[in-house]
Amino acid sequence: MRIKHKHKLFLWKSLHQVLPGREAIVRRTGKGDIICKQCGETNETVEHIFFQCSKAKMKWNMAPLQWDGLNEYTSDFRKWWSMLMEVKARKDGMEHIALAVDIFWHIWKAKNEAKFEGKDRHPMEVVRKAVDDWEEYHKCQQAEQRMSISETETANEQEDRREPEGNMLIIRVNVGQHIEGQNMGIGITTTNALNQIGVAWMLKERSTGSAVLDNLVAIQLALCKLKERGWQNIQIQTSCKQILNMIICQVPSNMRIAAHLEYVNDLSSMFRTCSFDSQPGNGSTNTLRYKLSKQAMHIYFDEEFFDPQCLSTFL
Ligand SMILES: [Zn+2]
Repeated sequence: MRIKHKHKLFLWKSLHQVLPGREAIVRRTGKGDIICKQCGETNETVEHIFFQCSKAKMKWNMAPLQWDGLNEYTSDFRKWWSMLMEVKARKDGMEHIALAVDIFWHIWKAKNEAKFEGKDRHPMEVVRKAVDDWEEYHKCQQAEQRMSISETETANEQEDRREPEGNMLIIRVNVGQHIEGQNMGIGITTTNALNQIGVAWMLKERSTGSAVLDNLVAIQLALCKLKERGWQNIQIQTSCKQILNMIICQVPSNMRIAAHLEYVNDLSSMFRTCSFDSQPGNGSTNTLRYKLSKQAMHIYFDEEFFDPQCLSTFL
């Protein structure tokens, strides 16, 4: 999808209920206040921030495009978004979707400015900023399309020279168990070209009950973590052969998987190079990533390890 990279991550977080609104923070940490501070009326969920809060409504009223036809879905952002995707094929559909994302982004930004900096921007100012951003990006995209093929090739060559191949990080993702509604543990390790372990993560998520879906979710979370750290050249190694086939051949086995595959695609396009491969020693229970994924089922908070020494206790 042709939307800004930073928005892809933002959108992904919104769709997976991990955008750090108050409700998500309380759900994850068990601490804090769940009520929206902008209106003081109800829980600050993604849906509240984007649609239901009086502050959001004012902005949408002033926006150059409204989605009144989707009003009945505003209590479920994923549903709302999947309905919005149907306008993709319409004339200018993609541009309108991109503008909607710009508006969400600026609603989110304005909420945070109010929270952290005490700024209370006029709704019209917020909408204007969203429209300006969208127009600017749109112009850049058009200019890019006008670039001749030879210019594109030269630009790619220069880009490639900036970071040599040796900087590629290998990321191995393992998922603990797949019981619907229960926690699944996710172990992620990163190794460099010299096979030295760098950062590692233990994450906890709700299992979907399907090994394929759980592994796709784990890969999405890993991609988000890697993007946040600014890495550009990565290879994701999965222990799930089915996923690897689907990613490479782009043939999902059902609609739900198709949606998750599309997120993986969107996220992976945010990196300079991102490839997928199978893990060496498949199924081995003696690996660090396997041990992390087992341990992660029982944690309260996601954990990040920067120091390989801390990891030695797991080996
Ligand atoms: Zn509110």
